[in-house]
Amino acid sequence: MIHLTDAASDPLTIDRATCESLDAADPLAPFRDRFALPEGVVYLDGNSLGALPKHTRAHLDRVVAEEWGVGLIRSWNDAGWFAKPQAVGDRIARLIGAGPGEVVLGDSTSASLFQVATAAARLRPERRVIVAERGSFPTDLYVLESVQETVGGAQPLERRLIDDAGPTLDDVLDEDVAVVVLTHVDYRTGRMHDLAEVTRKVQATGAIMVWDLCHSVGAVPVDLASAGADFAVGCTYKYLNGGPGSPSFMWAAPRHHEQARPALTGWHGHARPFDFTVEYEPTPGIGRFRVGTPQLLSMAALEASLDIWDEVDLDAVREKSLRLTELFISLVDRRLAAWQVEVVTPRRSAVRGSQVALRHEDGYAVMQALIERGVIGDFRAPDLMRFGFTPLYVSHADVWDAVDVLEDVLASEVWREPRFARRGAVT
Ligand SMILES: *Cc1c(COP(=O)(O)O)cnc(C)c1O
Repeated sequence: MIHLTDAASDPLTIDRATCESLDAADPLAPFRDRFALPEGVVYLDGNSLGALPKHTRAHLDRVVAEEWGVGLIRSWNDAGWFAKPQAVGDRIARLIGAGPGEVVLGDSTSASLFQVATAAARLRPERRVIVAERGSFPTDLYVLESVQETVGGAQPLERRLIDDAGPTLDDVLDEDVAVVVLTHVDYRTGRMHDLAEVTRKVQATGAIMVWDLCHSVGAVPVDLASAGADFAVGCTYKYLNGGPGSPSFMWAAPRHHEQARPALTGWHGHARPFDFTVEYEPTPGIGRFRVGTPQLLSMAALEASLDIWDEVDLDAVREKSLRLTELFISLVDRRLAAWQVEVVTPRRSAVRGSQVALRHEDGYAVMQALIERGVIGDFRAPDLMRFGFTPLYVSHADVWDAVDVLEDVLASEVWREPRFARRGAVT
């Protein structure tokens, strides 16, 4: 692992020229040219919506014109449409340490979590508790409420929430716990769980472990197989650059495939969908997590972005990701100390994902002023400015420039202008 200090540069003396030389030596630098980023923008929100790969438009054009326009209904067979959710899933498998036939694409992450967490809870019918994190992305908690009712019936399953301030996982784990659902990398702070260690601990009590990989896939190494994990879900429009609304994925360990009973049993998960029988019969394998007609155009955009991922060395992604976040943190420490900006992301690289969150009382307005100046991050209530570092298209010089602009916004107090306080529907 190359750290900043190994790059012949003391973090205290690093300047833009040092960043440029780090870029010149960066094995992932050529990937930047594969993305259509707007001129003058430093894009630090690829953890929310990944950038557009240049060849996605041509690929979509071809799918629309040829597969839809000319192939019409024949494309279900001729263009492999029916098999797509698993074929594309196989290409995601490598990114999460899974094998072929273990990953399938679904609807939104929320819907996929419902499928998977229900199946997980039904594997432990004698247990009545679901454990989740209070600080998790709220949709995960909302979906789990549906799982509690769907699985529990007249007596919904109980929910226990863990928290950094306690109770901890150790406090709540006992023989009543059916399922633990955790997000591997926290969406706000970027804190990363030890996937293998937590999985082991949960399984030791007889519970089933479900991982949400939304902020992990394409950002940090994930090895579900060697961790012996049970189930996972994740989204593809963040680090994977699949485009707005690209489908989520579901993974189940092969040992669970035959007993798994997901919440929604639709015709695309049927063993023989074109027999049009009255009774549902699940198809063998991961395909039973499918529901209905897949979003083929969204999936086509995702396929184009996976063409890039097929070429990417994931160890190089992690190395660069840590260099970028470390650089950002050290520049923030050095240059922004005067303005009460607090780094809430772990400084220890082993527990850090690929994003950095800064706490500032007026974080919302500061972020809007930053965005107006071309540095795009986002804001998470109540006071966090979030910056995502996507190693395929963010450079070390981008990090330098972003901190430069942030320092200017804070020093000039331009963020105090009333227009920066107005909130849109999406922050
Ligand atoms: C982004 C994200 C989601 C998104 O859910 P959708 O249903 O795809 O909108 C869910 N969970 C986590 C942890 C996320 O980071």
